[in-house]
Order: sequence, then structure tokens, then C-alpha cells
Amino acid sequence: MGKKRQKIEVKTPIVEMDGDEMTRVMWKMVKDRLLLPYLDMELEYYDLGLKVRDDTEDKITMDAAEAIKVHGVGVKCATITPNKARVQEFNLKQEWKSPNGTIRAALDGTVFRAPILVNNIIPTVRPWKKPIHIGRHAYGDVYKNAEIRVPGAGKGEVIFTPAGGGETIRLTIQDFKGPGILQGIHNTDKSIESFAKACFRYAYDQRIHLWFGTKDTISKTYDGQFRKIFEEEYRKNWEAKYREANLEYFFTLIDDAVARIMRAEGGILWACKNYDGDVMSDMLGSSYGSLAMMTSVLVSPNGFYEYEAAHGTVQKHYYKHLKGEKTSTNSMALIYAWSGCLRKRGELDGTPEVVRFAQALEDAARETIENGTMTADLIRVAEPGPKNKQVNTEEFIEAVGRSLDKKL
Ligand code: NAP
Ligand code: MG
Repeated sequence: MGKKRQKIEVKTPIVEMDGDEMTRVMWKMVKDRLLLPYLDMELEYYDLGLKVRDDTEDKITMDAAEAIKVHGVGVKCATITPNKARVQEFNLKQEWKSPNGTIRAALDGTVFRAPILVNNIIPTVRPWKKPIHIGRHAYGDVYKNAEIRVPGAGKGEVIFTPAGGGETIRLTIQDFKGPGILQGIHNTDKSIESFAKACFRYAYDQRIHLWFGTKDTISKTYDGQFRKIFEEEYRKNWEAKYREANLEYFFTLIDDAVARIMRAEGGILWACKNYDGDVMSDMLGSSYGSLAMMTSVLVSPNGFYEYEAAHGTVQKHYYKHLKGEKTSTNSMALIYAWSGCLRKRGELDGTPEVVRFAQALEDAARETIENGTMTADLIRVAEPGPKNKQVNTEEFIEAVGRSLDKKL
């Protein structure tokens, strides 16, 4: 980058959430090479790295969520969700909750994931020609559960005590004859309604069909409520619009949805309950090339947005990096997290030059791969080509940077 250029001004501060391990390493590289040289932006920085979460008793995560409510748009690096092994590794005060879970709960948002398609990677599932977007309900169910390790014989019950007095509702789940396990989960009409609204709107904005599946034949009350709320939202607010735009809202059993997805061409938003979305988005990501080709955005009903990569901190690569070995880790989803955040910021601020920068950054990244320069995860699955060349983490970001320089 020899020549001096005028930096593009981003009007409103962006909430930046740093993270852990290999993604933290790449986060800095992406910022230093692909963002800071081109943009004049104010970053409100929150370090969600595990050490700081532990030091602040996780207050930093709540502060970051509050900051998104103030500024509207944030971008997040992947973070470690501690388990027993991590508590030992980092000598943690406790097994802190998933920051993503905490932020989702604070914003009551829906997570939409979409793959990044490039023309030289053919999806493993052959019929998938267009992106299949996933809308993951980001509240409740098993992610906000209460669990009991049942020590021995006894009665497991679910009890509801009305706030204003009145009759308690009590159901037996199981009469245990010996040790076992027990779990209580919940959801709220309010959260399911905002999930439904977000899905209908997202699919309509993107002009793609909306599919939704639950297990309401077995779970008549719990999953049945999801189905009912979606149907009501559709009839009330979307049916006419969808018909006019030639879009379909299609409800089916979750297992039937999975079977049909395998034969679908794409161009669909697949609305998923929390756990289905967690699992299915990883399956989709790997079929479209690599987990590193999956983008993610949390959209709250109040108009707040948080962009991130769908993958984790890529721990195995980080340990190699720590030993001084070169890694070939893919930064595509991190780059798209930043471009997504900048595009939204530009749209909200009415600054088309910021939107244009976001598009240029995505084009540069995509074209770098289409021209054969890619990381190890993609070389394995890309169509063979004479220009194909595996590069390391840093070289890939540098190649995107050179391509970006030509566009600006
Ligand atoms: P992961 O970080 O997504 O990595 C799993 C494997 O996928 C990697 O070992 C690697 O495969 C491949 N991979 C993922 N991202 C890649 C990239 N950008 N480039 C190249 N290959 C990539 O999942 P994990 O190892 O299960 O989790 C590690 C940590 O991340 C955990 O502590 C977990 O809590 C956290 N996590 C955070 C988030 C989040 O913050 N959103 C999400 C998920 C997990 P190979 O080793 O075969 O190359
Ligand atoms: Mg997952």
C-alpha cells in the first residue's frame, strides 16, 4: 500500500468484542491489514477474552451487550465457552456461561446464518445451488435449562406456581426407580413471537422462501406453541405480501424438513428452534466448504445487530501457532462479520461510501479464493485448478488486502 489515501469515515461508533485463541490472532490481522488503513472509525472495544471475563466476573460481557443497545451495531470475535477442562487450563473462578448466550438473552435476538458461496467450491450436497440460510431461535430451551442428576428412587415433577396466587399446576415427569437425569426447559410467547417476526421479515427482505419445522406431533404443547405462533404471524402480517412476492411459508415436521432440505436447491430461510439451529448450521457450513465459510448475525426485534463468524476459536490451530508453527486458518467468516457490520452501519447512518467499502471487502475476499488462493480447509474441497495455491493465515489476509487495494 504505497500511496496515501483518504480514509472513509464511519459516523457512529462500532461495538467491537475481542475474543480468544486463533480467532483473536486473526482478528488483529484483519483489523490491521483490511480495516484500519481504509477506515476512520471509532471502535468501542470490549475484550471478551476469557481472562478478562474471569477477572470481571463476566461483567464485561453484560457491558458489551448494553453497548450494542446504545450504538446499535456490534461485531464479535469467537470466544471460549468454558468447560471443566478450560476451568483447569485457565484457572477460572467458575465455569462462565457462553458469552453468545448472555448477549442473545440480553438482546432477545434471532441468529441468522448464511454460507459464503464461491464458484470453485461445489457443495457436498449436490442439489444445493443457492445459500440455505438458517434462522436460529436464540432464546430458551436447553440453553437456559435446569438440570438435576437424580441420585436415586423418587418422583421427578414439573411445577408451575402462578404469580398472583391461584392453583399450582403440577405434572409428574417420571417416577424414578433408581438414579437418572432430569431437565426443565422453557420458552415464552414473547420470544417465539419476535423469532417468528424476525424470520418472516428476514426471508421477505432477502426474497427467499421460509421453512419451519418442529416436533409438534410428539410435543403437542411445547412445540405446538411454536407452530401456532408462526401460523398466526403469517396469517396476520405476511400472507398477502408473500403471495405477491411469490414466496412460500412452509411448515412441516422437523424430520421431514431435514429430509427435504437434502433435496432442495437452496434460496431458503430455514427457521430452526434453538438446538436444531445450533446443530444444523454446522452441518450446512461444512457442506458449503468449511465452517469458516459460514456467517452469522444476531438480529434483535428492537433493531440491534451483532455480527460474528459461526465457527469457534479454532483451538487446535492456536496451539500450533503458539508452538511457532505456521497455520493455514481461514479468516473468511471473520472478514464477513466485519463487512456485514460495516454495511449495516453504513445503511443506518446513510453513508453509501461505507456500504461500498463493505462490498469491496467481500468481493476482494471472494475473488481471492475464486482466483485459487486459499487456506488448507478450502484447498481440500475446491475444484482443481492450475492457479490453486495453499497459503498460510497471514498470506491469505495479505492477498485479500492486495485485491482490496486495487478496488479502492
Ligand atoms: P471450532 O473452533 O469451530 O473448530 C473446529 C474445527 O473446525 C477446527 O479444529 C478446524 O478443523 C475447523 N475450523 C473451524 N474454523 C476454522 C477456520 N476459520 N479455518 C480453518 N478451519 C476451521 O470449534 P471447537 O474446536 O469445537 O471449539 C473451540 C472453542 O471455540 C471452544 O472453546 C468453544 O467453546 C468455542 N466456540 C465459540 C463459538 C463462538 O464464540 N461463536 C462458537 C463455537 C465454539 P481442523 O482442526 O480439522 O483444521
Ligand atoms: Mg453449533
